Amino acid sequence: MVADKAVNSTKENHENLDVLSSTRAVIKSALEKLGYSDEVFELLKDPMRMMTVRIPVRMDDGKVKVFTGYRAQHNDAVGPTKGGIRFHPAVTEKEVKALSIWMTLKAGIVDLPYGGAKGGIICDPREMSFRELEALSRGYVRAVSQIVGPTKDIPAPDVFTNSQIMAWMMDEYSKIDEFNSPGFITGKPIVLGGSHGRESATAKGVTIVLNEAAKKRGINVEGARIVIQGFGNAGSYLSKFLYDQGAKIVGISDAYGALHDPDGLDIDYLLDRRDSFGTVTNLFDNTITNKELFELDCDIIIPAAVENQITRDNAQNIKASIIVEAANGPTTAEATQILTDRGVLIVPDVLASAGGVTVSYFEWVQNNQGYYWSEDEIDEKLHEIMISSFNTIYHTAETRKIDMRLAAYMVGVRKTAEAARFRGWV
Ligand code: NAD
Repeated sequence: MVADKAVNSTKENHENLDVLSSTRAVIKSALEKLGYSDEVFELLKDPMRMMTVRIPVRMDDGKVKVFTGYRAQHNDAVGPTKGGIRFHPAVTEKEVKALSIWMTLKAGIVDLPYGGAKGGIICDPREMSFRELEALSRGYVRAVSQIVGPTKDIPAPDVFTNSQIMAWMMDEYSKIDEFNSPGFITGKPIVLGGSHGRESATAKGVTIVLNEAAKKRGINVEGARIVIQGFGNAGSYLSKFLYDQGAKIVGISDAYGALHDPDGLDIDYLLDRRDSFGTVTNLFDNTITNKELFELDCDIIIPAAVENQITRDNAQNIKASIIVEAANGPTTAEATQILTDRGVLIVPDVLASAGGVTVSYFEWVQNNQGYYWSEDEIDEKLHEIMISSFNTIYHTAETRKIDMRLAAYMVGVRKTAEAARFRGWV
């Protein structure tokens, strides 16, 4: 699949890399701490709806290839479900389920009127033509059209999907719906009802919480040495925001390897050269591996690529004192324990990357009312939400003497649990 498989598991390594079961374990602890019954856990441990679809696409060579896709809707007690669509060769049913649960938690943390959802298609868009990608995107929407929609379940971009793919999907849904339906999907181009600030929202949210975490640890972000894994939507904007703030970005990576400079990389130079899939390291000879990247001398690490990158195998070798999870699920449960015991502050994914869904919500609100906001208005609202969410979770962790992940799950799951109780479901 990819040349450098990052920090990956081996068959002999028995660490639990099943993101669904580790997510369930934290949900269980969070619900117990909040005093909810086992019935609530039974309801929330799995998505309420999981659809598997098969999408036939005529490829450029004239042959038909059938792709497998998923849509998981975790829980709609609070409101319609929401979550991105991932195009990646490593997509699995379990991963999509876990990602949908994390979306419920994010929506709860930033207090949006949504439940969580997620979609995925097993494919490698880096090896597909524009025409093939359009056919796959439209085919996916036709296949899931009965369970999605602006008042049911609203998709968005995720790994290897972008505003062009959202535009094709919106157009296909509008044909089925026989109505222009911009609120069906978020992350659209601005001319199709996209929101100012959506493309950089995840990175902006991560930057805001990173600055708060740095203050707590007495680290000055200006001059701090930062390592970022992933140079796609989240990673590239993050590197730019932090570089402009005066941080030294000493390492960045993509799926194929990593670049390292102890004096700080020239981020503007690299941004000019990255491709639309966030690949840049293929242009250089002196690369290091994703494994080596995590072990670099630095103050802060930001995983912004895929799951299970920080495991018990490398957690001991991490030199950073703060980890801010822009990616979903980058740190295993065992690694979280090792790092917490070592005093490393982990700002968990469900908090750190919630800026994306927050501005997606703003996009949906603007689509529904047909009235659009300026980037300054979006930034101001995002800033306020991220700061207050960080403070609530940091305070919960401090007062309960628990790590920030468990605190974030407690804050995130409460709204859905309460809504389900009021509805009489549990
Ligand atoms: P992207 O497709 O724009 O970029 C992904 C980056 O990860 C690329 O640089 C790619 O080369 C790299 N990558 C892919 N597979 C890899 C591997 N096996 N090892 C190392 N690197 C690999 O994706 P994105 O939107 O930036 O998403 C990155 C992470 O952030 C994901 O975990 C995603 O779920 C999360 N996230 C994204 C958003 C968003 O709004 N885009 C919101 C919340 C969370």
